[in-house]
Order: sequence, then C-alpha cells, then structure tokens
Amino acid sequence: APPSAHRRHDRPADRYLALPHAPGEEGFVNTPDSDPAVEGHRSWVRAALSRAATSRAGTTGRFSAAGSLVDDAELLDDLLARTAAAGEAWGRRPARERAAVLHAAGRALEARRAELLEVMASEAGKTADQADPEISEAVDFAHYYAECALELAAIEARDGVRAVPARLTLVTPPWNFPVAIPAGGVLAALAAGSAVVLKPAEPAQRCGAVLAEAIAAALAEVGGAEAAAALRVVTVDEGGLGRQLVSSPRVDRVILTGAYATAELFRTFRADLPLLAETSGKNAMIVTPSADLDLAARDVVASAFGHAGQKCSASSLVVLVGSVATSRRFRDQLLDAAASLVVGAPWDPRTQVGPVIEKPEPGSALHWGLTELEPGQHWALTPEAVKTDVPSLAGRLWTPGIRSGVRRGSKYHRTEVFGPVLGVMTARTLDEAIDIVNDVDYGLTSGIHSLDASELRRWASRIQAGNLYVNRGTTGAIVQRQPFGGWKKSAVGAGTKAGGPSYLLGLTQWERADALE
Ligand code: GLU
Repeated sequence: APPSAHRRHDRPADRYLALPHAPGEEGFVNTPDSDPAVEGHRSWVRAALSRAATSRAGTTGRFSAAGSLVDDAELLDDLLARTAAAGEAWGRRPARERAAVLHAAGRALEARRAELLEVMASEAGKTADQADPEISEAVDFAHYYAECALELAAIEARDGVRAVPARLTLVTPPWNFPVAIPAGGVLAALAAGSAVVLKPAEPAQRCGAVLAEAIAAALAEVGGAEAAAALRVVTVDEGGLGRQLVSSPRVDRVILTGAYATAELFRTFRADLPLLAETSGKNAMIVTPSADLDLAARDVVASAFGHAGQKCSASSLVVLVGSVATSRRFRDQLLDAAASLVVGAPWDPRTQVGPVIEKPEPGSALHWGLTELEPGQHWALTPEAVKTDVPSLAGRLWTPGIRSGVRRGSKYHRTEVFGPVLGVMTARTLDEAIDIVNDVDYGLTSGIHSLDASELRRWASRIQAGNLYVNRGTTGAIVQRQPFGGWKKSAVGAGTKAGGPSYLLGLTQWERADALE
C-alpha cells in the first residue's frame, strides 16, 4: 500500500539534500518522488494505474465534504458569504496553529499519493512519471508554506506590524497541473490566514475534489469544524455563474493560473480585481557549441514533450547557435529521441507521452500547431494522430512533432501551442539567440545548455524570463529551490513567485500593529 511504500526510511535519499542551505530543526525538506527502481513503489503505481484504466469512464463530478455544485446565483452568494465569515475566524488563529494544519495537510496528501495518481491518470491524462513529482510538489507546498506562515509571524513580532490576510481568496487553477497548482494556491492562502474557495478547472474536477478532501480532513482534524469551514470547492458553469464568482465583491483576492487571455477576461469582469496570476509562456532552450550535446538533446526532448507539451513551462522552441545548427549528430539524437517516445493511454505504464486534453479542433492554436506550416518551415518529424480503441482518447493521441526553419517573427515563434510540438530556430551568435528568445510577449521559463561560464553570465544578464535554467530542462520547478513565476505577459498582478519566500507577502497587506488595536 502506498502509505507504507512512502515511509521515509523506505525511500531514496531526499532530493538535493547536499545543497548548502541545510534546513534548520523545524526547517523544510523537499519530499522525495517515488522511485520506479524500488519494487515496492513500482507495485503500488501499477495498481493505481490499473484502477485508473477501469475507472476512467466514471468522470462525473464527485464532491468531497468541502464541495458543492452551485447552480444558482443566490446559493453562490450564500456560499461566499459563509466562507468569508469562516475566513475571519481562520485569520485570527495564531500562525503556529495554521502551520500545524498545513503540515497535517502535507501528510494527508502524501497518504493519498496513490489515489491522486489514479485520478490524475484517469481524468487529467497524466502519466505516472509526470503525476508523481506533481504530488511531491503539492506536499512540498504544504510544508513549505507552513514554514512561511511562521516566518510571517516572526516578522510581525520583530517589526511591530500585522500581516492582514484577505478574508476570502478564490483559487482558479488550470487542468494541466490539476493537483500541484490548486494545492499551491489553496495552501498559500490558508497559510496566510485567508479562507478559500477553490474552483477546479472543468476537465480536472475529480482531481480537485480528492485534493480538497485531503486538505479539508487536515483542517477538521487539527483545527476543528470551524477551521474546516475555511475551505470550499465549487463547481459552477463557467459561462454563467463563473463570472459572478470572479466578480463578487465578497472575493478579496483571486489566484489564477491559466492563459493570459483568461486574466484579461477576469479584469473585464471586475476592473479592480486583486489578481495574482501566472499566465502563458513561449519558452526556449538555447544550445551553444560549448554544450554537452547529449545532455542537451535529452533535456530539450523532456522539456518539449513531457505531458505532451502541455505546460506553461515547456520549451516549445530550441535555438541552435553556430555549429550546433549544422551538427548532424545533434539533429539525429534529437529526432531519434523524440521519435522513440511511446505515445499512449496515461494509465499504460509504458506510456511516455499521454493525450492532449481534448481533440484539437480546427481553429484552435493546438490544431494549427500540429497541422500547419509557415513559409520556410518543414516537419523534421511530422506529428501524427495515433489510432486508439479507447473512445475517450480518440483524436487526442499525437506523436511528437518537430518543425524546422522557424523564423524570427513568425507565428510559431510567438504563439503558445500547448501541445507536443517543438520548433527549431538557428542563430549565428549567442547574442542573436538571446534576442530571438526575448522577442516574444511572454517570459516564464528559459533554458541554456552551455559549458562556457562567460556565455552563461551573458545569457543570465540579458534573458527576460522569471525562471532561468542552466544545463537542465525548463520544466519541473521545485518548491523553495526554484520559486516559480514569470515576467512580461507571463504574470499579472503582484508577480511574486509560487514556492518562494515572498509568495505569502503577496497575499497579505501590512499594517502597523497598533493601527488594529
Ligand atoms: N510549475 C510547473 C513547472 O515548473 C509549470 C506550471 C504551469 O505549467 O503552469 O513545470
């Protein structure tokens, strides 16, 4: 069973334990992922995936103790009013009590690792190798933000100030990280002392329900019924009541992760909306002639095609500098690695690239990205629809595509496709490559493979993106080690980074303590 498979002594050494900032006595340590090399881990993962294979038909809504299906305006307003009232009480709890609840939530999420993995595969199309680290990230958010809440209290005591939380925070996550992203928003808001209404993305409602069940259980167990009232999950029709939800004056803050267009839409609902949003990306990996090309090929492929490219952090461009552009060996490695990826059902343990979230419809960016070329471009690897006898996956399985000859200023250069497509661009010099990478509206992640220290310095000083990765892929930010957030149109609002030391500061307002007495 997974809980025992996850006992600490049973697991490989914690990731990156050797880093210099050793945690203090109460300090934060990243939770380790499951290790497929360990027989005990392999067997529970297989069991969870086979349950996912059979439960996939039942995708109708499932509601936890904290959940409600809200179908009229009055009910919605009533729910918001009650949750905001619960937020007043929750915000008055001492930070150490909130931290204790958060730690319990981290343990509850870890205890449900198998259930979360199952629902992520069956509902959201996540393969085990993608889902498992995402669960670790959710657990990390709980323990990390617990420490941040204590840190906030320490600043209050030291400086004679109060960090006044929002009463009610609305969290609207995307479907591509259906556990870690909602967990991050919910747990951060709770840690800061705010009540939360979570509205899971439509294609990931069961994931949201299981997640909320775990957190609600921790709230109830450690904080009692009053604390449990501080979290509600709602399912509303996005067209109608969704607008009312976002624009309700009872909502003090919205944490959104999604498309930039969604953030703009939210602003049209309510101009003064206090919005904290992480939005779209068009990210690139630069490969210079000094790079270890074997590692570069591996990281480009993982960053472009992991979760079928459906990550804001994905590299959908690679910019080859100088002689790398004509390196036959690098080209062959890249194409072979991409072509060898196994495309299939997310619950099949052999699958490396699962489905896209829905069948690409003509007119969508995804359909365009998978099927159309611009002048000068050709398919070095043509994406092809894979036949399947699983009705729910029909039209959703695509082999990885690589388009060569992408020119600066072309549509592909600047458009987020959110699918298994990589575009290859070339540059004569590193500076030209940096100009190309910066010449997009977004600035979320950016990567470079280079073993030349002066190149790395130049790149780091010029590149416009929130998360910079050296000799590593551009996805999979780890809580505390790589606080995650964007520049330019990849962020709207305060721009503080999730999983970093200042995130909770973006969720509170500072007042002098005596002003409140
Ligand atoms: N935090 C995720 C990562 O580092 C990306 C989140 C997103 O796609 O919004 O890969």
